[in-house]
Amino acid sequence: MTAKFRQKLAHRPRPEYFWLHSGTCQGRAGRYDRGMSQADILLPSPGSARPGKAPYLRIATEEAFAPKEMLEIYRRLIDKGEVDDPGFKGLMGFYMSSTSARAKHIIAGLQDLGDLRLKHMDDSGVDMQVIALTSPGVQFMETAEAVSFAQVANDQLADAIRRHPTRFAGMIAVAPQDPTAAAKEIERGVTKLGMHSVIINSHTKGEYLSDPKFWDIFAAAEQHNTPIYLHPNSLPKNMIQPFQEAGLDGAIYGFGVETGLHALRIITAGVFDRFPKLQMIIGHMGEALPFWLYRLDYMHRATVLSQRYESMKPVKKRVSEYLKENFYVTNSGVAWEPAIKFSQDVLGADRVLYAMDYPYQYEAAEVANLDNMDMSAELKKKFFQTNAERVFNIKPRP
Ligand code: CA
Repeated sequence: MTAKFRQKLAHRPRPEYFWLHSGTCQGRAGRYDRGMSQADILLPSPGSARPGKAPYLRIATEEAFAPKEMLEIYRRLIDKGEVDDPGFKGLMGFYMSSTSARAKHIIAGLQDLGDLRLKHMDDSGVDMQVIALTSPGVQFMETAEAVSFAQVANDQLADAIRRHPTRFAGMIAVAPQDPTAAAKEIERGVTKLGMHSVIINSHTKGEYLSDPKFWDIFAAAEQHNTPIYLHPNSLPKNMIQPFQEAGLDGAIYGFGVETGLHALRIITAGVFDRFPKLQMIIGHMGEALPFWLYRLDYMHRATVLSQRYESMKPVKKRVSEYLKENFYVTNSGVAWEPAIKFSQDVLGADRVLYAMDYPYQYEAAEVANLDNMDMSAELKKKFFQTNAERVFNIKPRP
């Protein structure tokens, strides 16, 4: 490297990593050789990016964990060759078998509800995590195992919250395969475990919550005032092929498309007319739905009026009204100021929350960038702290 080029590099904004002319990759954490995979390069490197104190708590609201027993169940199902689901095999099958440093970081981070997670939170300036069972959670299992394992996972998470009450809050995992049991687990989660939100990892074996057979879950969530976080799952079998052949089925795009579809199915099925106080949360900047509001309203009305589909009946409000009144969005995986401000603008600043998406997208630099957003102190505090305290019923600290 010439002295001039080195000087130029020293004065440019520092990304997490960048390619050198030699074909090696220079990152804050060190240099990577051409032989290393891209997966090895995209590793967290808090280092100098570690954010300082802020005049608000940083509460990250879509953070994942996985009991080791759950990964053992996944392993058993994969090893037995009983998995007929290319999305699951492509996602958890990959992370559980890959030797890349990124996969190892994710598997280690997912299983830890103690020192490692707390260190990563400290290193990235996150004061508190709202933790949920990672996708696909129990929704991939047979019904009886799913119901009993959801309880195991919730007990483990509740124990961790008891150990670290100022650092962790949690979401209640349920098995939609058995809506009655799921409703009971919501009640147990709220009354016995002290958790105040529910995690559902999108579709359950290709079925959507827009089907009234699942609506006991909504009734319980509304009754107990627990928002439901609708988090992505890998794409169902009958949807994945054109995404997967291009490598676009995962977090890069497919997750958002499928979860956004799921949210819209819930809205257009009339769920919020039946359960008007129900609140849901969607990540990844609302899975792009805030950007779609105008067209959704226009085309939903046009489609209903034309009576084109038996399945699309009139509902009481516009699609955008449900999104503004019954949904919160988090910026998990989208540490991008214009998208955050746009969502605050069209949904309201009380509806947009911070999330990191740990351990999948663990980046201290992203926290520092968001601290520096050109946004009023009042809105920034709502985004990072007070909206989360309200939505997840987290007691403000003295
Ligand atoms: Ca996530």
